[in-house]
Amino acid sequence: MLLDPNNLRDHIRTVPDWPQPGVQFRDITPLLQDPAALRVLVQHFVLRYMHQKIDVVAGLDARGFIIGSIVAYELNVGFVPIRKKGKLPYTTIAEEYELEYGSATVEMHADACKQGDRVLLIDDLIATGGTMMAGKKLLERLGATVVEGAAIVDLPELGGSQLLRDSGLQLFTLVDFA
Ligand code: AMP
Repeated sequence: MLLDPNNLRDHIRTVPDWPQPGVQFRDITPLLQDPAALRVLVQHFVLRYMHQKIDVVAGLDARGFIIGSIVAYELNVGFVPIRKKGKLPYTTIAEEYELEYGSATVEMHADACKQGDRVLLIDDLIATGGTMMAGKKLLERLGATVVEGAAIVDLPELGGSQLLRDSGLQLFTLVDFA
């Protein structure tokens, strides 16, 4: 009962027209603020991955850092941040991807993981899938295997999760919003 992911839906706030008109922003901060809901969320990920021989958790900027680092701690593995362009201080590798208008770039430290690492890639939400796809490409360029992409929320109507699955990425999400 407590582990029903539908209970998590009630802790995700929809903010209409933010950050721009037409966008329904799915805000996970109420979920983060609620200790019981946060625990349920983390348990879903930990129970799924504790026996999958994960070497590293990679989190996507910025809400993927929050969930990803808790999950990494619980799995007793390290955490790698995949950041927006220009934030990481050491040698980086970069992937550019298309947004609805324009493009964006994510970066990762060139020594963030090594050949053969089994990586769990985490973000809060999948919309067009572009961010997670770019993260996957970065990890694979370093020779890592992305065991699964995980997110709290999927917006299936935007087609991103399908696109990611079609690219060969296994995906796990807890709550869909139409
Ligand atoms: P995308 O690359 O289109 O899949 O977008 C996913 C990234 O953008 C995630 O890091 C989300 O945090 C953020 N994002 C995109 N759309 C939304 C939305 N409607 N509500 C909340 N976050 C979003």
